Amino acid sequence: MSTDTHRLPIYSVELFPPKTAEGMEKLKREIARINSVGPRYFSVTYGAGGSTRERTFETVDWLCGQGIDTAPHLACIGSTRDEVRDILTRYRDQGIRRLVALRGDMPSGMGGGHGGDFRYANELVSFVRAEFGETFFIEVAAYPEYHPQSGSPARDLANFKRKVAAGADGAITQYFYNADAYFGFVETCLRAGLDLPIVPGIMPISNYTQLARFSDACGAEIPRWVRRRLEGYGDDVESIRAFGHEVVLNLCRQLIDGGVPGLHFYTMNQSKPVLRLWEELGLPTPG
Ligand code: FAD
Repeated sequence: MSTDTHRLPIYSVELFPPKTAEGMEKLKREIARINSVGPRYFSVTYGAGGSTRERTFETVDWLCGQGIDTAPHLACIGSTRDEVRDILTRYRDQGIRRLVALRGDMPSGMGGGHGGDFRYANELVSFVRAEFGETFFIEVAAYPEYHPQSGSPARDLANFKRKVAAGADGAITQYFYNADAYFGFVETCLRAGLDLPIVPGIMPISNYTQLARFSDACGAEIPRWVRRRLEGYGDDVESIRAFGHEVVLNLCRQLIDGGVPGLHFYTMNQSKPVLRLWEELGLPTPG
């Protein structure tokens, strides 16, 4: 099912399920602000091993209740086929038609994912197709700077190919701050016959310490000059945000000029950075 492939570009946003009722109320206000610019869909992350299961459901239910197009993430590691089937049935019955299918990383303290029926995301994609046919438009993850466990770019590409062969319709990338990494990755994919839309994941910069820690873990590179500038601002949050905004704005401009099929914003549940980018990039808004 590739209906969206011809309706590009797609501008979408990602949320994570809050931990508390108070956090949920705050998120609802942020969602309303973001929704005012009309993103194509909101995706909601899912903790591997079912660690955020109920909270993901709560966020997804609320979005669906507002009539907002919602794409739940589903991370398969540590889950059984029956559990995954139940979740997919629930989503199908709610009218959800887009999923982000992932392996996930088991949270520390929850074991290495043993006991589940899935080892890699391509197995989840195959399962969704086998059990639910064309019900869902399936997005998978892609890594312009390569997944840290892939061993080599060639093996990373082979894995991406497996996910596409299993039935993925589109991909969203891990974030990056170097447009060449993205364009090089897309070029390599095209040469390998993979011409599905690969939408860049965009991470606004507002908290350097958090970003640096996260980037080390997921294998996303913060270019040296950006790192040095951000480090140089110390605790000056305003300067970090102002510089971070310019870096990400320029990145998005390069990507749009290069003809990307959309942008997927990692909002970190904050409306402000995304809305500012949306406006300055002149992305479409309703009406
Ligand atoms: P896979 O595609 O399965 O790849 C994982 C690793 O295994 C890669 O290194 C791959 O090369 C290797 N591999 C795959 N198949 C084989 C094989 N047959 N033999 C040997 N090696 C193999 N995490 C969450 O927990 N929840 C989320 O909601 C979430 N959302 C995300 C959204 C996006 C857009 C992205 C980019 C990432 C997201 N993540 C999420 C993080 C993601 O789960 C991690 O990056 C995870 O480590 C890999 O997931 P994957 O789906 O890419 O795995």
